[in-house]
Amino acid sequence: MKRTCDANHCSVRVDMNKGMCPDHWHQVPVAIQRRIYAAARAHKTSAQRLSSIEFLEAWADAVEAVATAEGRLTRNAFRSLANMVKQRQLTAGRK
Ligand SMILES: [Zn+2]
Repeated sequence: MKRTCDANHCSVRVDMNKGMCPDHWHQVPVAIQRRIYAAARAHKTSAQRLSSIEFLEAWADAVEAVATAEGRLTRNAFRSLANMVKQRQLTAGRK
């Protein structure tokens, strides 16, 4: 199965288990790539990853790094999702 590259404004189709096309992935700073790999190892399924603050924030940083490099910083759905998960965990912690 295929999906669209997560970089803003990119319509390249990538494999389901890849988040970005090779061109965009290579623009992600190595430090961020390492955080993504580490978070991905700790969270095997996509459902786990999409509720992991570490993974979502690393991925949001990756999307932002590419967008900044391209001078096209716009919305970042992963940042919104990371903030939502954070908020939910904060609320859960208060109960
Ligand atoms: Zn791309």
